Amino acid sequence: MVIARPIIGKHRNIKNRINVILFAIFLITPFIRIGGIPLVLIDIPARKFYVFGLIIWPQELYFLHILLLFLGFSLFFWTALAGRLWCGYACPQTLFTEVYDWIARLITKDRFGKPSMKKKDWAIVYFVWLMMSIFFSLVFLSYFKPIEETIKEVAQLSFFIPTTFIPKEWVIFMFLSTGTAMFNMVYFRENLCRLVCPYGRFQTALLDKHSPIVTYDVKRGEPRKQPSEKVGQQKGDCIDCKLCVLVCPTGIDIREGLQVGCLHCGLCVDACTTVMSKFNKETLIAYKTMEQIENPHSKIKYFRPRTAIYGSILTLLIIVFVYLLVVRVPIYTSVLRDKAISNIYIPNQGWRNGYEIHIGNLSFNPIDVEIQVESNHSFNKLIDSSEIHIKPEGYEKVRIILEYPESNGKLDKYSVPVSFIIVNKNNGKHKKVVKTYFTFPS
Ligand code: SF4
Ligand code: SF4
Repeated sequence: MVIARPIIGKHRNIKNRINVILFAIFLITPFIRIGGIPLVLIDIPARKFYVFGLIIWPQELYFLHILLLFLGFSLFFWTALAGRLWCGYACPQTLFTEVYDWIARLITKDRFGKPSMKKKDWAIVYFVWLMMSIFFSLVFLSYFKPIEETIKEVAQLSFFIPTTFIPKEWVIFMFLSTGTAMFNMVYFRENLCRLVCPYGRFQTALLDKHSPIVTYDVKRGEPRKQPSEKVGQQKGDCIDCKLCVLVCPTGIDIREGLQVGCLHCGLCVDACTTVMSKFNKETLIAYKTMEQIENPHSKIKYFRPRTAIYGSILTLLIIVFVYLLVVRVPIYTSVLRDKAISNIYIPNQGWRNGYEIHIGNLSFNPIDVEIQVESNHSFNKLIDSSEIHIKPEGYEKVRIILEYPESNGKLDKYSVPVSFIIVNKNNGKHKKVVKTYFTFPS
């Protein structure tokens, strides 16, 4: 378990500011309601996703796919442009580790992680971490289940599925999430970045010689001070104080070169800047591109084919998303043939087919809909309800019978295509078409 030593400096300050913003977003987002509608809620049992005022139903998962593609390509774009920004500054693993360690330092008054830290201190820290893990798990749960429901069930001590001793899903979720958080913070920590996280592994494919990375100046630093030498006797500038290793959240030695475990967080830059400033020298560790290492006077090239391609893909995804949003009709429809009235003939009247039309209101407002029939042939429409009112996020089933009058004469066909057009009467532009067939008895 690596416990990084705190350090002050430029990158630490930037990280602190970003941490505060990201942490506030994490804590506040699931509790924000706009007009009673959650800002973000992944309602798995109802199979609905509330994302920034948009409600995404299973039929509209392409919105979620575009969003995920956008996030994926954003990662590629920012990595190519500015290195592993995600790992060093935005990854939840980095963020939470720093929050847990910060609290532990407040409790133990900077004895945290040092040999002077007593067992009693550890017990208090672990207890507080457990409380924090429960609280954060509750916040995390609120992204999937409204907090009001959780509070109500806790107040009613309703932890099990009625008449069984099987815990409810959210109770299992809380146990797993709390357990994972504790295991991660108490034991696993840096191993997640060094051994598990796939992103660190394919970073080399995303970085090129123009991407900024944290590098150690081997030419200036080596040969570093040897244990037998005094500071100032060494040939290179590195005094081997190891502060850069002590402040590293993954415990790596950047002097050994670019490694999978390096998050490019810049804390070792702050450490070496502090050390070298005492000798009026420039830091040995800095954000540089491979190009700048070979050619120290070169400038970072932000605009290059890789960033242009990723940037264009991101722009395209935004355009497609906005277009789909603009042309979106918030009505879902499907049609099933009604087996009870399928394909019958009523003498002196005509042929009849029954249908069951399912209509979902994908918006937060009530709608009134009308069902129109479109075909090359004329049908009588017998419907079980002339007023179809669907409440917000509601769903209705409407039975409809089409009759082909005998007076039109039987068609010499087994079936003819028919379309049902579901029109939102409150907004005539919102229409959905479902295609089916009208069949005649053979
Ligand atoms: S902080 Fe700088 S001087 Fe100290 S060991 Fe690291 S590279 Fe060398
Ligand atoms: S080596 Fe430096 S940049 Fe890399 S993770 Fe450690 S402290 Fe952060």
